[in-house]
This record gives sequence, structure tokens and C-alpha cells, in this order.
Amino acid sequence: MAKTSRISGFHKMSLQERIQVLRDFADLNDQDVALLGQSAVLGIETAERMIENVIGTFELPLGLVPNMAVNGRDILVPLAVEESSVVAALANAAKMARSGGGFFTSSSGPIMIAQIQTVGLSDPFAAKLKILERRDEIIALANEQDPVLVKLGGGCQDIEVRVLDSAAGPMVVTHILVDTRDAMGANAVNTMAEALAPHIEGWTGGRVFLRILSNLADRRLARARCLVKKDAIPPGPEVIDGIVTAWAFADADPYRAATHNKGIMNGVSALVVATGNDFRAIEAGAHSFAARTGRYRSLTTWEKNRDGDLVGSIEMPLAVGLVGGATVIHPLAKLVIKILGVKTARELAEIGAAVGLCQNLAALRVLAAEGVQRGHMSLHAKNIAVMAGARDREIDEVARRLVEEGKVRVDRAEAILKEIRGR
Ligand code: NAD
Repeated sequence: MAKTSRISGFHKMSLQERIQVLRDFADLNDQDVALLGQSAVLGIETAERMIENVIGTFELPLGLVPNMAVNGRDILVPLAVEESSVVAALANAAKMARSGGGFFTSSSGPIMIAQIQTVGLSDPFAAKLKILERRDEIIALANEQDPVLVKLGGGCQDIEVRVLDSAAGPMVVTHILVDTRDAMGANAVNTMAEALAPHIEGWTGGRVFLRILSNLADRRLARARCLVKKDAIPPGPEVIDGIVTAWAFADADPYRAATHNKGIMNGVSALVVATGNDFRAIEAGAHSFAARTGRYRSLTTWEKNRDGDLVGSIEMPLAVGLVGGATVIHPLAKLVIKILGVKTARELAEIGAAVGLCQNLAALRVLAAEGVQRGHMSLHAKNIAVMAGARDREIDEVARRLVEEGKVRVDRAEAILKEIRGR
């Protein structure tokens, strides 16, 4: 009989019952099952409170980036990431950026946007003005929803109203701009938008449809810049023109920009994950911001200054929080915040921007100087060595020989391993 994934009441089962159902469904053995149902750091009970239908927890390596200086303060940056070379590249580039004093940051403030969509209007432009006339009332109504946020100095500050011409006809979209302080703010602004819906319907005669946060958090921008002295960048100052040219390629071409920005997010998202923040929200914000001009472009800029030094800058939305979501539930997330020594969500966002810029420096330098293959291959070779069964010290030796031969393949790794073990 074919197995069915239609399992009634799955969410009501206990952890052990769920694992038993899974065991039968996927023919798991004792060894498989031993990987499930436990969590040393998070705690399985905590995991069960975080999401539904938990069967276990999933670990990622947590690496530490040395050498970073942000606004004159030395910091150690923990990153949670599965990809080899991210941590090493950051450590390396952070060292180069020290020649110019490290990274210098700023931010726009933690303003999030929630959207309220009103449809069914024959007079959308009049409706827009009716909503704008109620600006102060809207702000007051929104702030009634979150006295805690208001007490902390945050809350709804302003509104914007746009008329969109869409495939489903005209619609009026109201934005509320909310200072969410140290929260990422999705729940906070969604609650406000929800509460405003019936009022907007009453004032306009239209029907409110969606009311939800926008992840294009372009009022919550974090910025970082750095300078790398021309004699502090290997192999030498000639690589600077290459970096600027490589950046210009990304800025001009979405195919290159996608990979360029992906590299930036290697660092940013690893920090976001390590702090228990919503990495999908940050990714969505970054990429939509990169496309804000109508063309998808680089999140960074690289230039050569008058002295011939390399100067880089980044500006991107970074809606991270220190309260709310998993940030206060995950014990490691709290520890990471302690290690970073940040007291506000803004400081965390600015470190995120510095990490993104630093990663981009590392990637562009390698691309311009050595071709990405060589550096990447030696780390990739270690993975291949492990796949071939190498352990402990064997891993380095197998990887080294794979790179020397220029054949980073599992079959070669197996042959080399056999040879080593035969010695
Ligand atoms: P939250 O609602 O848990 O916490 C925010 C609330 O905490 C504030 O409204 C405020 O009342 C209170 N608070 C206490 N101290 C504060 C301080 N110092 N600064 C600010 N607020 C303080 O969380 P949230 O940040 O509103 O929502 C984040 C969660 O929402 C994340 O888990 C995210 O994954 C999820 N989410 C995301 C989306 C999206 O990105 N599209 C949509 C829905 C939900």
C-alpha cells in the first residue's frame, strides 16, 4: 500500500509519536532516529515552543571572525554558516581594513513600514487625500496598539499614501512608518496596520484587503565604509583598479550583481542567523533594495581615492532586533549579542553592514587578484576529502594533494586516501 503523508492530528502528537510516524514512513533505523528528538543547546522543549511539528534541531557551525574594528572599537564577530571560506575571508579582509582604521558606520534609525491596501474605490485620488487628512489620528490610533513601544521612544511617526495602478485596478496603499526601536518589528507594525483597517474603510468607503509589513525596509538603512591603504592589500596596489572594475561589472549587470550581493549576504546572513534574527526578512530587504532603481545593482560601491587607496561603502536595509522572535529565546543568540557587546538593534545592524562590506572586499580582492578558484578550491578540497572518508590529519594531506594535482574529485581523494593508509 502506498504511504500517505496525510496524517490527521500530526500537530497534536507528542515528539516521540511524531518521530515514530516518521520512522515508519521513511523506514528509519535506530541510528537515524538517534539524530532526532534532542538538542543540547536550544533544548527540545524550547524548539517545540518555537515552531510546529518539531522532530529535532538542526546545527550549523558557529565561527568567530577576528580583526574587525567598527567605529574605533575592536569586536569579535560570531557567524553561523554552513559555507566554507566565509569566516576565513572575513578575517583576512578585516585585517586589510585595519590599515584605514577599520569600519565606520551609521544608520537611518529603526523605521519599519506596514502597508494597508484599499481596493474597490472609484475615486482613489480623493481617498488618498482623505487618508492624509487623518494623519495625526492615524498615528494616534496606531500608537494605542503598542504603549510599550511608545514608552521606549518609538511608535508610529508618519504616514505615506500612494495610488497604484495595478492589473486588478487602482488601489490606495497607505504606509505607516513606525520606529520599532530594538525590535525587528514585524508583529508590532502588523498589529497597528490591522487596527487601522476598519477606520480606513470608514473614511474612504473602500475595502481594506492586505495589511502587512514591507520587507523593503528602506527607512531602516545601515551603512558602513572602509579604507584600505594601497600598501595593505595583497598582492599590491595594482589590484585596486581590478577591484573597482570588478565592482563596476556588478553594478552594471544583474547577472554579476546577483553573485556579488550573494557574497555580501554570506557575511550578513551568517550574522543574522547567529543572532536569532529573521534571515529571510533581511535577504528580501537587501535584494529588493538593490533593485530599487528598477535595475538590480550592487549593494556596495568601490572607489580609488586621491591617494590611490581603496575606499568602499555599503548601504542596505537591515531590520534586525534584540527583542522579539528567536532573539531572546535562543540561548546562543543571546550569547552572540553579549560577545558583540551591542546594546541596541541599530548597533547590531551597523555591524551587519560592516560585515557585508568586509565580505565584499574579500571576494572582490580574490576575484581581482587570484581568480576565485584557487582559494576556494583548497577549502572545497577539504570537503571532498571528508566525503572520501578522510579523518583528522588525513583531511589536510588529501586536500593538499588534490589541489596540487588540480583534480578536486572524490575518486582521486579516495585513491589518495587508500595510498596514505597503505603507508
Ligand atoms: P515581538 O512582537 O515579539 O516584539 C516586539 C514588541 O516588544 C514591541 O512591539 C514592544 O511592545 C516590545 N518591546 C519590549 N522592549 C522593546 C524594545 N527595547 N524595543 C522595541 N520593542 C520592545 O517581535 P517583532 O519584532 O514585532 O516581530 C519579529 C518577528 O516577526 C520575527 O520572528 C519575524 O520572523 C516575524 N515576522 C516577520 C514577518 C516578515 O518579515 N514579513 C512577518 C510576520 C512576522
